[in-house]
Amino acid sequence: MNLSNFFARRFDNRFWRSGAGGPVAALWSRLLGGLQRALPQACMLCAAPSGNALLCARCNDALPRIGIACPSCGLPSTRLAVCGACLARPPPFVAAIAAWTYEFPIDQLLQAFKYGTALALAEPLAGELAAAVRRRTDTRADAIVALPLSPSRQRQRGFNQAHEIARRVAVSLRLPLLRGLARVRDSPPQATLAWSDRSRNVRGAFVGDASLRGRTVAIVDDVMTTGATLAAAAEAARRAGALGVEAWVVARTLPPVDSSS
Ligand SMILES: [Zn+2]
Ligand SMILES: [Zn+2]
Repeated sequence: MNLSNFFARRFDNRFWRSGAGGPVAALWSRLLGGLQRALPQACMLCAAPSGNALLCARCNDALPRIGIACPSCGLPSTRLAVCGACLARPPPFVAAIAAWTYEFPIDQLLQAFKYGTALALAEPLAGELAAAVRRRTDTRADAIVALPLSPSRQRQRGFNQAHEIARRVAVSLRLPLLRGLARVRDSPPQATLAWSDRSRNVRGAFVGDASLRGRTVAIVDDVMTTGATLAAAAEAARRAGALGVEAWVVARTLPPVDSSS
């Protein structure tokens, strides 16, 4: 049986609601870690033996990591400088950091994580994001906030995948995790819309509170596609008094290839 799914079914969101987690969460985390170390498991992607890791070494080495990227939008680039698109239209975040491009097999892993069949992935996904942040020298974030879901979507899903990653990144980087953003308006999922319509769809969807004032906050999400949702959240954070906003994501979708060139 797939050990990751076995554990995922036993993740109970109630234990995790209180930010850093209470004694039950700490105990559960130790138990989970102990079991994962004690039992050999199969790679989530190819089912080869993977020791105590979720992926075997071969699959892990083949993941689409982002190397050199535009510091402003996080898209892969040939040089470490702000790209032409960001110079022409600076995004409302001062830096964007992504661990991987949103391609196979990261897309599969993130889908499994987001829809609750592989919650145990939160740990390695957050670990990779924290490592990507550590490699960047231009980050100024002094607090982390998860991109919120609307209350109805959160109820439907039972957890917020961005929060599951954000709280682990916060622990790893020793930064406070704030709950200063709320999603006040539900809108059709961005995936159902053309890229050009996404900005309008999320405008005004977020509000920030006073806890963001004077902070440079990193908004954490699982995937950045056009960046429209993170931009709307960043604008809300700025309106609430944040000095600067960064976007930290596990994976960055590459823009569609222009078929005319
Ligand atoms: Zn594998
Ligand atoms: Zn850029």
